[in-house]
Amino acid sequence: MKQEKIPSVISESNPPLQSAEGCCCHDDECCSVAPETDPLMTDRLSETVYAMLEGLGEDPHREGLLKTPERVARSLRFLTGGYSQNPEELLKNAVFTEAYDEMVVVRDIDLFSMCEHHMLPFFGKAHVAYIPDGKIVGLSKLARVVEVFARRLQVQERLTQQIRDAIQNVLNPKGVGVVIEAKHLCMVMRGVEKLNSVTTTSAMSGQFITSQSTRSEFLRLIKS
Ligand SMILES: [Zn+2]
Repeated sequence: MKQEKIPSVISESNPPLQSAEGCCCHDDECCSVAPETDPLMTDRLSETVYAMLEGLGEDPHREGLLKTPERVARSLRFLTGGYSQNPEELLKNAVFTEAYDEMVVVRDIDLFSMCEHHMLPFFGKAHVAYIPDGKIVGLSKLARVVEVFARRLQVQERLTQQIRDAIQNVLNPKGVGVVIEAKHLCMVMRGVEKLNSVTTTSAMSGQFITSQSTRSEFLRLIKS
């Protein structure tokens, strides 16, 4: 097996995120469920946000807060829209047979998620790489997989592994590498850590574990 490979770096801007009005990725199969399609759940969430405002000692009836419960409910539904989407199905719909077997790297994928401990945002960049073994996947789908897992309540460690596992399971490539660099508002705003602290996590499989040169190449390529 050839271990030394000349990787080809493919950088692309992120596809547009799903808007509140519906999907703008022009792919009917990947975004069939918009968060706002379940008004009952949005209503229940609105009531909960109303109670939260009261719990904070606020007056939910003052002008600025009148529509806040519904706004927050819709916003939360959007930010957690990944629960209604299956990342592996998303990938399966864009798999192609191809002899290409060099490293594919998509770097600097914008990432927005919410930590499950504080329900505060964490955000940053994801870098995803794999070495095909007869099958490749549409590049935009790698960014979409990041997005679907990120649009759930998460910890960064699990998010990183879930992205790796989904790609590994569907493509069965020679290896997958995922690195995420993110800032957590629960650390920054609550003053636990320095303002600019960045958390880095990685998850690898296959040649990214067994081949030092493959891993080094990946890490070198994602360094800005
Ligand atoms: Zn947190």
